[in-house]
Amino acid sequence: MKELSDGKTSLSQLKEMVQKFVDDREWGKYHSPKDLALSISIEAAELLEIFQWSGEMGAKKALDTPEKLIHLEEEMADVIVYCLSLASVTGIDISQAIGKKMIKNEQKYPAELVRGNYRKYTELRGAKINQGENPGSSAE
Ligand SMILES: [Mg+2]
Repeated sequence: MKELSDGKTSLSQLKEMVQKFVDDREWGKYHSPKDLALSISIEAAELLEIFQWSGEMGAKKALDTPEKLIHLEEEMADVIVYCLSLASVTGIDISQAIGKKMIKNEQKYPAELVRGNYRKYTELRGAKINQGENPGSSAE
């Protein structure tokens, strides 16, 4: 397999690679949007399992060996592979979808409102309302 990297590999190339894998096995008949969405969630749960019971040390303890980091890499890949398949069967262009979503996120989370604060935008806007400010002025 040719060398892949984020800097050199396009999303289209990854989608084609995943689609070829699916086509070679005639698994397309199983890849309904619903089952792919379920698969994304199942693989995301496997990703979370890496951190389960990691206690106060959290990610540092969960990822403290090369084997655990490889496990993380594999579960992330599983999630992304199913996302690529879901995009393929639904005709969604991932780059456009991310671009549109990031514009929405910019509107929901204006940097001047949320900088250095992890709270959800609805809480922060609520705090602005209580202070007599117009919470909707920079969004939607
Ligand atoms: Mg997995």
